[in-house]
Amino acid sequence: MDLQNFVVLMSGIVGLMVGSFSNVCVYRIPRGESIAFPGSHCPSCGHDIAWYDNVPLLSWLVLQGRCRHCSNTISVRYPFLEALMGISWALLAYQFGPTLLLLQAIILVSLLWILTLIDLETGLLPNVLTLPGIVVGLLFAWWFGFFLDALLGACVGYGVFWSIARVFLLLTGKEGMGYGDFKLLAMLGAFMGWQALPFIVFVSSLVGVVVGLIYLKLAHKDRQSQIPFGPYLALAGMLWFLWGEPVVQWYMQLII
Ligand SMILES: [Zn+2]
Repeated sequence: MDLQNFVVLMSGIVGLMVGSFSNVCVYRIPRGESIAFPGSHCPSCGHDIAWYDNVPLLSWLVLQGRCRHCSNTISVRYPFLEALMGISWALLAYQFGPTLLLLQAIILVSLLWILTLIDLETGLLPNVLTLPGIVVGLLFAWWFGFFLDALLGACVGYGVFWSIARVFLLLTGKEGMGYGDFKLLAMLGAFMGWQALPFIVFVSSLVGVVVGLIYLKLAHKDRQSQIPFGPYLALAGMLWFLWGEPVVQWYMQLII
């Protein structure tokens, strides 16, 4: 096995395990609980989970999605996030090889998946993830030599949404967006530089409006319903990170 394949395989396996830990983060961080102590336990009966019931993907399949002790269902989010992380890490390793860029990609994409699932479940984008994310993004930018672009990206990312939210508040008297969205955009700006922001804001808004309208129609909700915006920001951020240049070129060809 050559180095490239080995890195892809190892990344996939470590990604599965980090996916398992990410489930702990998704459950505990919005509840303000420690992610280190106590060890894994069933959210329903509180029983400790043995290591053999905590193997990524396999345990969920063997237990058929139920706790061994109380038989309550274990959310399908657990195997889903494990598989998502494992596949993402392996694909990123395939794309970037054993480089520092791979480490940056893995940290960014993992943070975005965790934030997406927390936002979908709770409507929150916790500061304990976005603020360190901004710092890590700036550190990589400094290492890769685009620190000023990244700093500007973080500031403008926060400022753009803050301004939109102020105008929206003045016009309608309602809060349109959460402050977590501002910090997530700032994090994306810190990781990729201010150049990424127009694309991210445009694509996330477009997808968000389309999906939001379909959801309101299907779920028969009114427009007052809060729809989390973090997942669209995360999706647009990943698109730019992986295929920013080709996507923009393709789009320019379409409109010219
Ligand atoms: Zn249980």
